Amino acid sequence: MTKTCVIIGASHAAAQLVVSLRSEGWKDQIVVISEELDIFYHRPPLSKAYLSGEKNKTQIAIRPREAFDKLGIEFVLGVRAEKINRKDKTITLNNGEVIHYDKLALCTGARARMLQLPGVELEGVCYLRSAHDAESIQRQVKPGGRAVIVGGGYIGLETAASLRALGMKVTVLEAANRVLERVTCPQMSEFFARVHREEGVDIHTNVQVSGFIGQQHVEGVVCADGTDYQADLVVVGVGIIPNAEIAKDCGIAVDNGIVTDEFARTNDPDIVACGDVANHPNRLYQRRLRLESVPNACDQARSAAASVCGTDKVYDTLPWFWSDQYDIKLQIVGLNHGYDATIVRGDVTGRSFVVFYFNNGVLIAADCVNRVKEFMVAKQLVAKKAELDLALFADETVEIKSLLTA
Ligand code: FAD
Repeated sequence: MTKTCVIIGASHAAAQLVVSLRSEGWKDQIVVISEELDIFYHRPPLSKAYLSGEKNKTQIAIRPREAFDKLGIEFVLGVRAEKINRKDKTITLNNGEVIHYDKLALCTGARARMLQLPGVELEGVCYLRSAHDAESIQRQVKPGGRAVIVGGGYIGLETAASLRALGMKVTVLEAANRVLERVTCPQMSEFFARVHREEGVDIHTNVQVSGFIGQQHVEGVVCADGTDYQADLVVVGVGIIPNAEIAKDCGIAVDNGIVTDEFARTNDPDIVACGDVANHPNRLYQRRLRLESVPNACDQARSAAASVCGTDKVYDTLPWFWSDQYDIKLQIVGLNHGYDATIVRGDVTGRSFVVFYFNNGVLIAADCVNRVKEFMVAKQLVAKKAELDLALFADETVEIKSLLTA
């Protein structure tokens, strides 16, 4: 009898999952449900090349639609999966349709965290998670107009860079005392703040946004200290929330995302979860993580596909991330949480250097600014839990590759 694997969500995790399901030997039906009409597109360019207009829709497709048709994937698009009934093994959609599954994969990702502040409903106050959001921001771009970005994280800073490229005057408002505070060390924060200022962005930290003003369209951003900033466009980038409610409502374990094991399995043997929504155990860092990155979504989807097909493929790849802003390619390897020392290789006052992070003398992470070679080496060193003389990392006369055999 033909079996059905249903996947909810059609983004990075799902795109890899369908390919891996076929390569793992799933010959039966695969049905993908997505509330978005645009599917299987790269999300990272939404704040970068897609927003700035350098790339179009076709150029951000993960694979052309025909590639998925060739794999025999069926799509149910523009509808939301509302409820999972684990007893009947069915999913109820918001159009009333009920779909049966034998195996279910939750690739529901995350959504932008919304602000609950006066005036947030005004036209021109935008969030950025989908291609639709990026297009809506693009429509409101006016060269010479004023854009205010709420949040100085990666999405906020990338959006600032893209809006500068489109000729807007850009202000970034950050509540913490430095940009990227949650994810990086003070030197990196200072570096990015300097670069953005050099590129003409006005950055304010320790600023608590308290509301938005305007008639129908936003005209300004008001802060708790009484200051206000004129705005023709506001982009809010204050983090994301995992789309885990559908799992929680049917009794699947949820704790900062859907709780999975190292094989992407949930507490229901017929349901897997992967990508931004999944909270999984990481062997290298010996703790649970919910990562928000494309490499995580893709690698975890490979394990999820194996689990659906009845084999065990552990997910334990090293986390890595990237960010593009202006002429800067930042590549991040590992997680720096708990670092007790940093070493800089190169010149932080320029635009090419590395910050290595250590815990008890062990290399745990590295932020590589326009340093691809160091990034490749750091990936191996972090995976090996390298413990080397720290001075070697700083010394530019020591070839970085030599550290692999040191
Ligand atoms: P998502 O991409 O979140 O997709 C989930 C999909 O499921 C969505 O389409 C959602 O609408 C749909 N869905 C959810 N619930 C339901 C439901 N009940 N019914 C139907 N459909 C549903 N990562 C990097 O590694 N590098 C970067 O530089 C980078 N830049 C980024 C820039 C931006 C602007 C954004 C938004 C993200 C960026 N990311 C980056 C993060 C990266 O895009 C995510 O990690 C990745 O998209 C996660 O993929 P996913 O498949 O888990 O979930």
